Amino acid sequence: MPDIEILSVANPPPFLLEPLQAKYIVHQRLHETDPAAFAKVAPKIRAIQASGESKVGADLIAQLPALEVISVMGVGYDGIDVAAAKAQGVVVTHTPDVLNDDVADLAIALMLAWARQIGRADRFVRAGEWPKGPLPLGRKMSGARLGIVGMGRIGQAIAHRASAFGMKIAYTARSAKPDLPLTYYPSAATLAAQSDFLVLITPGGAATRKLIDAEVLRALGANGCVVNVARGSVIDETALIEALRAGTIAGAALDVFENEPNVPQALREMDNVVLTPHIGSATAQTRRAMADLAFNNLDARLSGQPVLTPVPECQ
Ligand code: NAP
Repeated sequence: MPDIEILSVANPPPFLLEPLQAKYIVHQRLHETDPAAFAKVAPKIRAIQASGESKVGADLIAQLPALEVISVMGVGYDGIDVAAAKAQGVVVTHTPDVLNDDVADLAIALMLAWARQIGRADRFVRAGEWPKGPLPLGRKMSGARLGIVGMGRIGQAIAHRASAFGMKIAYTARSAKPDLPLTYYPSAATLAAQSDFLVLITPGGAATRKLIDAEVLRALGANGCVVNVARGSVIDETALIEALRAGTIAGAALDVFENEPNVPQALREMDNVVLTPHIGSATAQTRRAMADLAFNNLDARLSGQPVLTPVPECQ
């Protein structure tokens, strides 16, 4: 077996790391831990294994003249400089579809957790508050108006689930989807004005940075709840905190943050906010499926075969 060297810029789970190590020489974050040693092996690195949160910039790609593939275990790849990769003949792959169910399940769970105060109710019972009186009333989610920002693979899985709750569903995206029986709004602000829940499920990156700003939050209004399962960068976090403090919106349920894993203290102190640590795809079943696809993409390229799921820019 030839000694093929690859660089992992993430912390892959054992069920990805072990098959990679069985076939390749894996340098685990060597570019960060030992730059001098990395400089020696860099000319031989033929693949990068990354996660949806990894940053792979043009500077790193330029140090790797033998690089052929950047395999992302995740669907979002906003941290990868795809243009720089393509310019060097490197294909970028990701793991779409296999995580749709989990992320859509979490979006619904977050809406329910916020509306029915699941976290707060759990803390209430544990703290022995119940004998002193009832928990304040929650909100009904079934039948409410749901606005989905991003109507791709996961957005459609969320809409499918929400329809079983009798929600009135509308959406915005870069383009309308005439085949879907849902109302399209041309902007996040016009959609927010017609929504009780505004769920964000677009990619991150420059095109969606702070798409949800103070104006969109004002449009969502004092009874509205914003749910972010996309990327922290999609919301202006400072404007969000201000809107929550001022009562411009009723609440938020957030799986992703601007500066993960650090969550602003202001959000952590608010009772009208539900917080989860970026767990959209975090089930054993789905992470295994993502790992298998990430491995197969990397392995296909290094075996001279077509990759299975290149990002759209590399198709
Ligand atoms: P997708 O199929 O590519 O769908 C993306 C949707 O976003 C499309 O409808 C697209 O519009 C829309 N969009 C893109 N740029 C936009 C913009 N500037 N303004 C408005 N809408 C825009 O992607 P997906 O598989 O559903 O995944 C979506 C994202 O979810 C990922 O990129 C990732 O960031 C996030 N995610 C989060 C987790 C988590 O753990 N929380 C897990 C997985 C994924 P068009 O349809 O018009 O192109």
